[in-house]
Amino acid sequence: MTKKSGTIEINQELCKGCLFCVEACPKGLIISASKLNAKGYYPTAFREKGIRRELRECTGCCACAISCPEIAIEVYRG
Ligand code: SF4
Ligand code: SF4
Repeated sequence: MTKKSGTIEINQELCKGCLFCVEACPKGLIISASKLNAKGYYPTAFREKGIRRELRECTGCCACAISCPEIAIEVYRG
């Protein structure tokens, strides 16, 4: 069976830094960024950004996107 694989994109300008997605990710793949966005929040960032598919732990489960009140996360599978 092929391993489930996914990736996400976080729109850092929509993010309000609530960290719900950090709590929601079962793999701990979302972290708080160190740079403020234009609204003055510390947005989150995806730890596996730019990492090759075979090496990613993200399963594309969507838990992060579902938890986000700002609809700032898009999930891509495969
Ligand atoms: S899709 Fe699932 S595994 Fe991937 S970052 Fe979001 S919560 Fe984590
Ligand atoms: S849940 Fe959404 S608004 Fe909250 S920190 Fe994550 S991306 Fe930002």
